[in-house]
Amino acid sequence: MRLEKCYICSSTVYPGHGIQFIRNDAKVFRFCRSKCRKTFHMKRNPRYLKWTKAYRKSHGKEMAVDSTFEFERKRQRIERYDRELVGKTIQAIQKVDAVRTKREKEYYKNRMKQAKKQSQKTAVRELEKGISLIEPDILRVNQAVKAKDAVQQSVAMLDEDRQANDS
Ligand SMILES: [Zn+2]
Repeated sequence: MRLEKCYICSSTVYPGHGIQFIRNDAKVFRFCRSKCRKTFHMKRNPRYLKWTKAYRKSHGKEMAVDSTFEFERKRQRIERYDRELVGKTIQAIQKVDAVRTKREKEYYKNRMKQAKKQSQKTAVRELEKGISLIEPDILRVNQAVKAKDAVQQSVAMLDEDRQANDS
């Protein structure tokens, strides 16, 4: 059983799934879904589409260079069936997978470290730029409080006057 990769988004195309296109020079293109097939026929380059693996790798968003990718290479020579070899291969696949997951997590962590610094920087810059927009608001609130106090005082004085007149 051979698991192929989608030409556009690089997701796995399982046997019996997806669709393939064979160009008249006999090159085979496999697609996981109609979205990818249509994109191909619109002659779009997967490197410039943000949702593809090719874009993410070429823009440093995902681990692109690693020794664990070597194991996934396509081999033309088909091995003779050997029960022991199959068992060993399955064990190896799990081990390689674990190593790669760990490395990918590390890569993501490193990438996000810089992102946090950058977002803090932009937040500080924005605050510096917009501090003048915040100040008048505070002044306005203070003025409103002062005005409210004045009104309350005058009301109290009027009340006192009325009481004095009544008595
Ligand atoms: Zn696809």
